[in-house]
Amino acid sequence: MNLLQTYEANGVSCPVYEYGESVLDALRDRFDAIDRMAELNQGKVIRAMQDARVDAACFAATTGYGYDDVGRDRLEEVYASVFGTEAALVRPQITCGTHALTVALSANLLPGDELLSPVGLPYDTLQEVIGIRPSPCSLAEYGVRYRQVDLLPDGGFDYPAIRAAIHEKTKLITIQRSKGYATRPSFSVAQIGELISFCKGVKPDVLVMVDNCYGEFVEELEPSQVGADLCIGSLIKNPGGGLAPIGGYIVGTKACVERCAYRLSAPGLGQEVGANLGILPSFYQGLFLAPTVVAGALKGAIFAACLYERLGFRVVPGGAEERHDIIQAVELGSEAGMRAFCKGIQAAAPVDSYVEPIPWAMPGYDDEVIMAAGAFVQGSSIELSADGPIRPPYAVYFQGGLTWYHAKLGILRSLQSMVDAGLTEVPTVV
Ligand SMILES: *Cc1c(COP(=O)(O)O)cnc(C)c1O
Repeated sequence: MNLLQTYEANGVSCPVYEYGESVLDALRDRFDAIDRMAELNQGKVIRAMQDARVDAACFAATTGYGYDDVGRDRLEEVYASVFGTEAALVRPQITCGTHALTVALSANLLPGDELLSPVGLPYDTLQEVIGIRPSPCSLAEYGVRYRQVDLLPDGGFDYPAIRAAIHEKTKLITIQRSKGYATRPSFSVAQIGELISFCKGVKPDVLVMVDNCYGEFVEELEPSQVGADLCIGSLIKNPGGGLAPIGGYIVGTKACVERCAYRLSAPGLGQEVGANLGILPSFYQGLFLAPTVVAGALKGAIFAACLYERLGFRVVPGGAEERHDIIQAVELGSEAGMRAFCKGIQAAAPVDSYVEPIPWAMPGYDDEVIMAAGAFVQGSSIELSADGPIRPPYAVYFQGGLTWYHAKLGILRSLQSMVDAGLTEVPTVV
């Protein structure tokens, strides 16, 4: 069986396959650069594991209080080393990215303090955490104020407005690296570093937290290496490498991370408690695989961007742009487009391929959301997935793929599904 036949057997027609190959021909150099980045980050992870003397004893299960959990403590050492920080909190008790961010915010903000977002509205689920949309137990309920400076129309930072927004009560500045469900650009680590320097120039003791979701291992440096006091993400995204079944991480200064540990467990207990329940092998092995998994996801994102851009769809980032996270937004212009795209991604999955995703109300989100994911880990978005809120410009946010080949198949099937629904046509390749 040749490749075309394999794709045909997986529901991709010859014209769609050949159009895909013509797009790929132009991407070889960029894929090489992604492979070199993965190699660099692989080396960093291996070095960190060796320095922490990871051994088989680290993989043992602990239960109950989890005192003297060597595997947990060394894993946190490894994370601190990879992210270049004094301390790390990496736990299965952190249920998701939103939880990790909530722990960090509520640990480091006290009544009367002000939180500032200089990059516009934060990710949907954080709006209730902060109290932008009222919710029981929001930071607003506890007397933490919130202020926001929007991005400039070109996606840049509004420095004069940021300077004006920072004052005596500004305790913590939150910067979201990835675009989330917005069609603004994601920020490079260098841009984040500049913004941090600016903010600390205005107020040297202000704390800066970076929501690093989807950004890990895309570049050589992480935001924690350009001045962030706290850097946070989910283990069912990039750093879990597709293997971690749950969890989140918080890395940063010892003072900030210690407060997070007190918030997560209890004042006085902190990092000393928290049994690992036997899942540490997946945390270690997932981190080990993460650089190559992220590389595959990046190739998929670039392929999707170039494939759809050539057909006239607006894509963010553009096909030729540099990447700062693994998210690719494709504006499909209609709910029908979102449904067809997601149907194709779902149909290419190894798990749950026979179901058709439909829009649904989701906790933490204001609009109905459509989600395509046939994942080994439920809800994992380092695995091939596509989702988006049903609202203009009807953008699907596409991400992940544990292997590049699966990402490629999923993207081709999404296009096939769009073609079959009469929503686009592929050019004939000569
Ligand atoms: C995914 C994500 C979150 C929240 O993560 P969950 O694990 O879904 O709670 C926060 N911020 C950004 C930018 C994200 O992409």
